[in-house]
Amino acid sequence: MKIKLDRTLCDGFGICAKHAPEHFPLDDWGYASLAGGPAIASTDEGAVTRALLDCPVHAITVLPDSNRMNGEPAATADEARPQSL
Ligand code: SF4
Repeated sequence: MKIKLDRTLCDGFGICAKHAPEHFPLDDWGYASLAGGPAIASTDEGAVTRALLDCPVHAITVLPDSNRMNGEPAATADEARPQSL
C-alpha cells in the first residue's frame, strides 16, 4: 500500500496522528506531514487506513499499486476499508 498526503487539503484536525503517529507527525500548528515515505508496511496498513478513512477533508489517499500490470483500477475506499469495521 502506498499513500499520499495532500498538505494543501489538511485542516489540522490531527485525527491521522491519533491513529498512526509514526506516519503522520503534526507540526506546531497541528498540520500533518507524511513521515517515512509513501510505502506503508503491511503491519501498519490497518492504522493508516483508519487515518485515511477518518480524515475529514480526505487529504490522505491511496496511490495506485505500481505492481498491477493488467490495468486493474486502484483500490477504492471501500476496498481499503478494514474488514473489522
Ligand atoms: S486527519 Fe486529515 S486534516 Fe487532520 S491532520 Fe490528518 S491529514 Fe490533516
